[in-house]
Amino acid sequence: MPGIEQSGTARDAAAPAAWRPGAAGPLRDPAPLLPDTAPVRVIGTPAAAGADPETARLLHRSLVRGRRFNEQATALARQGRLAVYPSSTGQEACQAVAAAVLRPGDWLFPTYRDTLAVHLRGVPAAQALALLRGGEHGGWDPRRWRTAPLCTPLATHLPHAVGLAHAARLRGDDVVALALVGDGGTSEGDFHEALTFAGVLRAPVVFLVQNNQFAISVPLARQNAAPSIAHKAVGYGVAGRLVDGNDVLAAHQVVGDAVARARGGAGPVLVEAVTYRIDPHTNADDPRRYRSDAERTAWRAHDPVGLAEDHLRAAGLLDEETAAAAAGAAERTAAEQRAAFPDTPPPGSPEDLFTHVYARPTAQLREQAAAARAGAAAAPREVPA
Ligand SMILES: [Mg+2]
Repeated sequence: MPGIEQSGTARDAAAPAAWRPGAAGPLRDPAPLLPDTAPVRVIGTPAAAGADPETARLLHRSLVRGRRFNEQATALARQGRLAVYPSSTGQEACQAVAAAVLRPGDWLFPTYRDTLAVHLRGVPAAQALALLRGGEHGGWDPRRWRTAPLCTPLATHLPHAVGLAHAARLRGDDVVALALVGDGGTSEGDFHEALTFAGVLRAPVVFLVQNNQFAISVPLARQNAAPSIAHKAVGYGVAGRLVDGNDVLAAHQVVGDAVARARGGAGPVLVEAVTYRIDPHTNADDPRRYRSDAERTAWRAHDPVGLAEDHLRAAGLLDEETAAAAAGAAERTAAEQRAAFPDTPPPGSPEDLFTHVYARPTAQLREQAAAARAGAAAAPREVPA
């Protein structure tokens, strides 16, 4: 089929000069944007000797707090004190790093699984988890905490992150936006649009993809044919980086470098952090239907908390006092969570659902509100209070 063959020099000679490889124009060398062929690791490698002891201790403390935060929130969901909890157990290193690398003036754009990152950024547990109890206003003031609301639709917050980062640069503000997204989110249209604009505008934004191997029950191989998710970045002119997302020191180094690069005006970065969701998708999911216990057990042997403790022990940094301080901070967090979500119905009535939809309710809304009122009166237990 001669019409679609490209035969090298003969074809190039006929093409406009700007499109000749090597000529000035839109063709660019992709090499600086390409990720490494294997995820960056620090713990257990010679690079671990260069890790800052204080940073390692702080990150370990966040991981221990994070593990306890996930356990407590899962328990609250089982008790009906949260409506749902998408756990980040196994992904605590990504969560801790997302909070650790940002300055107070930067912005975090979380997904529904990132309440831990939000809490570690400083948002009180009562606010960080409010949406998961049914709170209708997101839980916290985004401007106060420079943290966007939890985003439940996949990847729809990514264009917002790019827009905010670009707007900040236009205003001369020294701001980086860090957007969290899952592996499944990178299959969405909003991901494409966000990466396109980020690349073209060279927006100071970092996309941190937590590749936890599944989009609910769909395994990565069924939704991605790229060499890695990090490779997807190159097609948008965005730098792609690949890191072991369970190695908190490696993730801190790679995501920290990405934020510094974006802040310095060198353009956006997409970091793929390879990790694993140990718990079900949410408390409403049964993962035994789509993955094996053996796989989960294998990932447990590469646990972020265990890896961090291995490092601290090897470096002589895990004494009794350090361990006790981390455990104590974790228990204080759990107590804060329990106090924030007592075993009593949340305030409000079914009619609140209709209050802020329109300034002047439509006939349909008035009808639905009346039906909810009647239902509450007839069968109060069937209508959420
Ligand atoms: Mg996933």
